[in-house]
Amino acid sequence: MTDIQHNLPDDILMGYATGVLPRAFDLVVASHVSLSDESRARLESLEAIGGAVLEDVGTADIAHDSLKQTLAKIGGMAPIRRPVPTSGVFPTPLQDAVGGDEAAVRWRSVGRGVKQCVLHSDEDGTARLLLIPAGRAMPAHSHLGTEMTLVLKGAFRDADGVFTRGDIEVADAEINHQPIAEPGEDCICLVATDAKLKFQGLLPRLAQPFVGI
Ligand code: ZN
Repeated sequence: MTDIQHNLPDDILMGYATGVLPRAFDLVVASHVSLSDESRARLESLEAIGGAVLEDVGTADIAHDSLKQTLAKIGGMAPIRRPVPTSGVFPTPLQDAVGGDEAAVRWRSVGRGVKQCVLHSDEDGTARLLLIPAGRAMPAHSHLGTEMTLVLKGAFRDADGVFTRGDIEVADAEINHQPIAEPGEDCICLVATDAKLKFQGLLPRLAQPFVGI
């Protein structure tokens, strides 16, 4: 767990710590933090200063409103899952969402050998497990919103490098990429999106209503 190269930026960790992330992203962050010693340590230090920051923010009028909104949002959410290290393939928060480890996933084919399992979907985002066969490329795509991808098994590669277990990639409208599973082992990822992907090329675009990604 010490060789994780791609961790989360502090603003997303702070969003997680204060409970304002959409549920789909909350699940990805909780799972990543369970696998990354570095992110877990940074989260703990952010939480330690979090209370003081919220108190400061509360003194400004405009920020006071956003604090109220934040608290209202927290009130409407389930308690934040506490990240804990795990011995399974799936981190504990993900096992809770799936109802078990890898063997419990009910995969559905989405074409090209790729499988998915939607774990959560609401107006703020969708969380799904994605299985990409070893050596297989996903269609090249850009993003209409934010896409957060956590590798659980195997690895994938794109222009930003190689992502292995525990690594997380955050992509947005600026990023156009084609993830390719590394050879040797199927790649399983947990992916949160807040908007549909924008596929390049006619065939992937035609397939999208069926694929639903
Ligand atoms: Zn993407």
